[in-house]
Amino acid sequence: MHKTKSKKDLNRKSNFKKWRETMSENTGKQSAQLSKNTPSLEDTPLEPNADIQRLWKSVHAEMRQEFGEAIFRSWLKPLTLRAFYHGTMEVSVPTRFMRDWIQTHYAKRISTMCIEKNNEIKRVQIVVVQNAILDGNILSQDSGSKTDSVKNESELKKSIEEISSPLDARFTFDSFVVGKPNALAHAAARRVVESASVPFNPLFLYGGVGLGKTHLMHSIAHSIQENSPEKIVMYLSAEKFMYQFVKALRANDTMVFKEQFRSVDVLMIDDIQFIAGKESTQEEFFHTFNALVDQNKQIIVSADRAPSDLNGIDERLRSRLAWGLVADIHPSTYELRLGILQSKRDLLGADVPNSVLEFLALKVTSNIRELEGALNRIVAHADVSKQKITLESTQEVLQDLLRAHDRRITIDEIQRKVADHYNLRFSDMHSARRSRNVARPRQVAMYLSKLLTARSLPEIGRKFGGRDHTTVMHAIRKVEELINDDAQIAQDIEIVRRALTG
Ligand code: ADP
Ligand code: MG
Repeated sequence: MHKTKSKKDLNRKSNFKKWRETMSENTGKQSAQLSKNTPSLEDTPLEPNADIQRLWKSVHAEMRQEFGEAIFRSWLKPLTLRAFYHGTMEVSVPTRFMRDWIQTHYAKRISTMCIEKNNEIKRVQIVVVQNAILDGNILSQDSGSKTDSVKNESELKKSIEEISSPLDARFTFDSFVVGKPNALAHAAARRVVESASVPFNPLFLYGGVGLGKTHLMHSIAHSIQENSPEKIVMYLSAEKFMYQFVKALRANDTMVFKEQFRSVDVLMIDDIQFIAGKESTQEEFFHTFNALVDQNKQIIVSADRAPSDLNGIDERLRSRLAWGLVADIHPSTYELRLGILQSKRDLLGADVPNSVLEFLALKVTSNIRELEGALNRIVAHADVSKQKITLESTQEVLQDLLRAHDRRITIDEIQRKVADHYNLRFSDMHSARRSRNVARPRQVAMYLSKLLTARSLPEIGRKFGGRDHTTVMHAIRKVEELINDDAQIAQDIEIVRRALTG
């Protein structure tokens, strides 16, 4: 805000602070009384006169009109008139992030509004009055509670550890199998751990249930705690965040809550979608978030969907969540599932033949959690029954699970869904047409039929206009290849698969 840091400037700053305090004590009064500390006029910003104050009020109203209630409440309401000097109108916001956001999106228009109304105004400057949230609103909200706040560092650290959820010792980078679907998320997580500074804020991880979001977050937490034990890492679910917040509200203890959450070095909130529709929790999270970003502290958030799809979450929070790095975890591929199973088998030290792992990787596609569950079941069963694990015993032990997977879907349904997706007719699935725009979707449908039903290759062939089982086999191989090389196909297939299994 001030370009040079001469003594005079520093002096001016502190005088100005005192002056501001006087101002804020007098809020509401038309002309604030200047205290003894009021700096001399040529030296300091001028208190805005009644005209300017009135003008600002009407600009406030106009912004609300023009930008709408939601944006106004989120961004523009906190703008506070601070000073007017040499044609510069100075308005303040509590955080750097807010300033940047307003600067990029609304500042130009706001300037115009002001300048249009009074030609003495040459420019509008937005400045950050840091800790305005902490020193101003919040303190006045919980006035007097400063004495109740946490007393010392170690006590604070202890209280933060209590809020934090326990970490699963098994969820480490070492046990995380990396494949195409999770490569980006994994690389981003490693960057957070390996960077000396904050590489992106926040890191937003998203993906369907059981695809490894929590595993990655715990890995980050373990790793930071190992490399930098002095850092305070807080990991908790959004649900627990809300619970803590509500508890603090009830106990009239929000100051301690705020202090705890603003004191961490790394904040991780899992499953943020949970606070959809929970307005005050979102608001609190938003302030915590901004305070931490302003202090350059790392934030990591996970969700089951992309920021833009988080319905029921305030627009300003959604846009903020998307501001760092957004990394999605795609549904697993056959290769990744097989890799995870192999690694899990090694961890368990169990004697499971590859053919069984391949069978599981092909059949249990919903999510990794279910896949692991299936492996655990057959290993446990073999243990108890003292039998070797075979493909047959696996099919028997997992009968219910496999049937549940199979029963849901018929080849007809698959053909319909694929035809819909590619804008083809249902009959194209059985026809003899060989042009690529028909043949490729047909191959996709064959692949999905093998994946999602218990039908044999000849049975599938018959359902596709009486084709030979080798044609089906070829189609499956081709599609598997394409999934690896062609992101578009992989995505198409995933969309159809989800529509079918969803
Ligand atoms: P999410 O939080 O996305 O719902 P989790 O992180 O809880 O999913 O993962 C579900 C299970 O799958 C966990 O046991 C986890 O260890 C395992 N898992 C997921 N992805 C991987 C992976 N890439 N490598 C090893 N295990 C994984
Ligand atoms: Mg999770």
